Amino acid sequence: PEKLAELLGQWTPPPAGKVRVAKKAYDADEVRAAIEGGRLINYYQPKVSVSTSEVVGVETLVRWHHHEDGVVAPDQFIGVAEAHGLIDGLTQVVFTNALADAKGWQEAGLALRVAVNISMDNLESLDFTDFVAAQTLAAGVPPQQVVLEVTESRLMQDARTPLEVLARLRLKRFRLSIDDFGTGHSSLAQLRDIPFDELKIDQGFVHGAWSNETLRVMYDASLNLARQLGMEVVAEGIEDREDWELLRRTGCDIAQGYLIARPMPAADVAGWIADWQSGGFSRLVVGD
Ligand code: C2E
Ligand code: MG
Ligand code: MG
Ligand code: MG
Repeated sequence: PEKLAELLGQWTPPPAGKVRVAKKAYDADEVRAAIEGGRLINYYQPKVSVSTSEVVGVETLVRWHHHEDGVVAPDQFIGVAEAHGLIDGLTQVVFTNALADAKGWQEAGLALRVAVNISMDNLESLDFTDFVAAQTLAAGVPPQQVVLEVTESRLMQDARTPLEVLARLRLKRFRLSIDDFGTGHSSLAQLRDIPFDELKIDQGFVHGAWSNETLRVMYDASLNLARQLGMEVVAEGIEDREDWELLRRTGCDIAQGYLIARPMPAADVAGWIADWQSGGFSRLVVGD
């Protein structure tokens, strides 16, 4: 209790977010047309090794190239897709495109793991396993190179099917990742029930943890938990060199964030990696 009081005493509210453009509400017909019309584009953000600064993989983050509104972020349409039964179609498009890009990089000599964000709704059907396995086989990408990032943002009605789907995918050697760990329902119960390979500490516990003891305690606890369960640990939201330095000091495995790279179109990935390996990583070194 004393420690808690001490920590609460140090608590300062998180900084107000950047000014945002008012969010437009898209309806189901527009989202359906975007999915079916090929308007959803896979962007990719690198994941790099903290110890070697090598690029270990990329995560695909979908964007909608809207004819009037420009590039629309996933937060503005994933929820709509989930609410209107469109998320299976969306995931199929994103997953298939990610495999095609992964195959292209493989042929160019880049053995990258490719991570895809999966909605809990996708796990409500046992067919999802077959879809993922069949597409991956057809693309000629080893399942070990495919990472499925799962966030549980709401309570599951009946967890049996999702658990079964994840267990089957793991048996087929796909890598399972628990995303946004520490938020929503991405929590201890999931770690107890599902053999995840990777844990992603939510950016809310990472960025700024070097200067905020409350965040630091939560970051450390998540890191240790993952370690002791034998999982690889990814820290999201690395925005400055102090964030990176914390990961280095604490032995976190993998880093992702704007300091390293923002999500980019597939066509930019190979060039970005070449640039990174020929010295771009030096921006991670603390001190000028
Ligand atoms: P996520 O999977 O946790 O992805 C991380 C989000 O944080 C991404 O936002 C990424 O662009 C952003 N980010 C990365 N580095 C930094 C950083 O250093 N600082 C800050 N402030 N943000 C950073 P994005 O692309 O807008 O995606 C938001 C969420 O939308 C994702 O969170 C994921 O849950 C969901 N999402 C994205 N693509 C898909 C998809 O294809 N399918 C599904 N079902 N969900 C997706
Ligand atoms: Mg993710
Ligand atoms: Mg995340
Ligand atoms: Mg997120």
